[in-house]
Amino acid sequence: MTTAEITTRSIITKSNLPEADYVINPYTGCSHACRYCYARFMKRFTGHSEPWGSFVDVKLNAPDLIPEKSSKYRGKSVFLSSVTDPYLPLEKNYGLTRQILERLIPLEPRLGIQTKSDLIVRDIDILKQFEVCEAGLTITTLDDTVRKEIEPGTAPISNRITALKAMHEAGLTTYVFFGPILPGLTDWKHIIEETRTFTSFYMFENLNMSGSIRDSVMGWLSAKHPSLVPEYERIYGKRNDYWDLVEEEIAAFCSKEHIDGRIFFHHGK
Ligand code: SF4
Repeated sequence: MTTAEITTRSIITKSNLPEADYVINPYTGCSHACRYCYARFMKRFTGHSEPWGSFVDVKLNAPDLIPEKSSKYRGKSVFLSSVTDPYLPLEKNYGLTRQILERLIPLEPRLGIQTKSDLIVRDIDILKQFEVCEAGLTITTLDDTVRKEIEPGTAPISNRITALKAMHEAGLTTYVFFGPILPGLTDWKHIIEETRTFTSFYMFENLNMSGSIRDSVMGWLSAKHPSLVPEYERIYGKRNDYWDLVEEEIAAFCSKEHIDGRIFFHHGK
């Protein structure tokens, strides 16, 4: 892992995400190194040729770029983070996310923050100061062996579940992000069962296999789960209704169980 300290010109940027007006990425790159990461396209824009997951640039001046006063973000949704994780292990030392959050409070945005790390509990005191704050943990599997294969730099699943509970007990709105659902591996019903009492809502995203993600995911499956390869080839081969059926199943399950489930599926459009 290589780390570089850099300065940046802007830190709050307009978002293309469906649920956010603005995004903040305190770091460039991500040491979590997820196999399915769609953010690896960032290499092109940042001059990095190293493998995704092997570098992080620390935007040292990021907190200073948050305006002291501005009505521009009042009531707007601001999300951390879209192409990195705001609680990378480096955050323990640099504290950029914490400083950014502190400076955002007076701007009164609707905050969304999502991570794969239990380090988020360090900032519960700050998160509670936002009028609107939704704090999410991504969970793709309950199996830590699979977790290490697909998200090698992340915290164990049990830590994430403990973090969710702690945030719920502190009075925060919490959510689990199933991002992405991995066919044959993500038992989302079981994860809901394990987290339901301390989770306000769930977000569902299906696996996107565009560009270089396909080679990354198929290479891992061939090495670790070869029996799943034909199924993935079918799902991502000729046009078929696999994800339509999963979407219907999730919607029906959430409706029956009175669960707030929000589905963000790509259907190749
Ligand atoms: S945590 Fe998010 S940004 Fe980081 S590697 Fe994983 S998917 Fe990509």
